[in-house]
Amino acid sequence: MASKPTFSDEIANLLHASHGNPIKICMQCGTCAGTCPSAPFMDHTPRRLIAMINANMKEEVLASNTYWYCASCYHCTVRCPCEIDIAGLMYALKRYSMWKGQFKEGLIGPVFSETFVKTIFRSGRSYEPILATTYLFTFGLQDFITEAQTATTMMLKGRLPLLPPRIKRLKNFRRMIGRVIPVGGLE
Ligand code: SF4
Ligand code: SF4
Repeated sequence: MASKPTFSDEIANLLHASHGNPIKICMQCGTCAGTCPSAPFMDHTPRRLIAMINANMKEEVLASNTYWYCASCYHCTVRCPCEIDIAGLMYALKRYSMWKGQFKEGLIGPVFSETFVKTIFRSGRSYEPILATTYLFTFGLQDFITEAQTATTMMLKGRLPLLPPRIKRLKNFRRMIGRVIPVGGLE
């Protein structure tokens, strides 16, 4: 009987379409950590996170803010001497974390991602006023008022839609999305 895949196997499977080498060959040189502009805000550097994945430290990885703070700049990917697609790994970890419904409390990233996917699934289009509410309340009162005034001005000038736009053949679109991502609970 085939054995259950480990956490690092699951992450490797998510990277099957990546052009990079398997993360198992990481030699822990630290180039990615040294080159990452977001590293000061991460609780684990990309180098350490890769070591944790290879050690199957699933709970610790899912509790990390590292991949949610990744700015997708690809500096790490182009500089890694082992040609590992670290930026691709960060995307894979976001997807994995959302699918498992397990992420660090208090982060805007997962809430924003979930709202974005739900909005797209329901109407086929992004709708900024709904997306903005996922982080607007984290601002101070003054910033909140400024943002709300800007949004109102943009709506009045027709730069933001008043109502969410809907695409034609939404059913077909939803069926297509359902084939590539788990969409349970989105309707
Ligand atoms: S740069 Fe590449 S080899 Fe070096 S620690 Fe990062 S992932 Fe590993
Ligand atoms: S892609 Fe992400 S992890 Fe890599 S250097 Fe940029 S911010 Fe850091």
